Amino acid sequence: MDRIGIFGGSFDPVHLGHLLVAQAAREELDLARLFFVPAAQSPFKPDARPTPAPERLRLLRLALAGETWSEVDDQEIRRGGVSYTIDTVRDYARRFPAAQLFYLIGADHPPQLPEWREADELARMAEFVVLPRPGQADVPFPAPFRGRRLAGFPLGVSSSQVRARVKAGLPIGRLVPEPVAEAIRNNRLYL
Ligand code: ATP
Repeated sequence: MDRIGIFGGSFDPVHLGHLLVAQAAREELDLARLFFVPAAQSPFKPDARPTPAPERLRLLRLALAGETWSEVDDQEIRRGGVSYTIDTVRDYARRFPAAQLFYLIGADHPPQLPEWREADELARMAEFVVLPRPGQADVPFPAPFRGRRLAGFPLGVSSSQVRARVKAGLPIGRLVPEPVAEAIRNNRLYL
């Protein structure tokens, strides 16, 4: 049975923290494939106005270029509106009916899982995987959710930090892959 990972987020922009936990997920969960699924509009950031989707997608594709096991899935962008996890997980269950699905989430999310749209159905369809981040304690999964926490590789980088550094004229070359830093510069993003 294939084991498939789904990594949702704003990816505004993708950074090395995302890529390191993605690698940990692949190794620790023995994933056949991992899909990065950028949100059109995150339900957790209702007031945020993300960078236009084509730019976020372009940066993600640059970050994942050459990877055989990970790819970008733009389905939430194509659907538009607020991006709900249940819609995306249902799509994966339809496309990969025999696969075991793993949905990656931040360490702050488990307590809120019962409030996610169609929570019972969601809990039945996927196992949830908490991504480690420095300074974040392990929290239990509320029933009926099943899950576990990855061990590697916590890195204290966030997209908001990358955006703030670009705005302040500070270098980001060690925080995002070089082709991503170059595209951010060339397209004058986050200024
Ligand atoms: P922002 O700073 O704008 O809130 P972010 O860096 O948290 O963004 P998102 O695109 O919102 O990035 O993150 C997608 C998912 O990846 C979320 O579940 C988030 O918790 C997780 N994540 C982001 N950065 C890291 C990191 N450095 N380590 C572990 N998980 C991370």
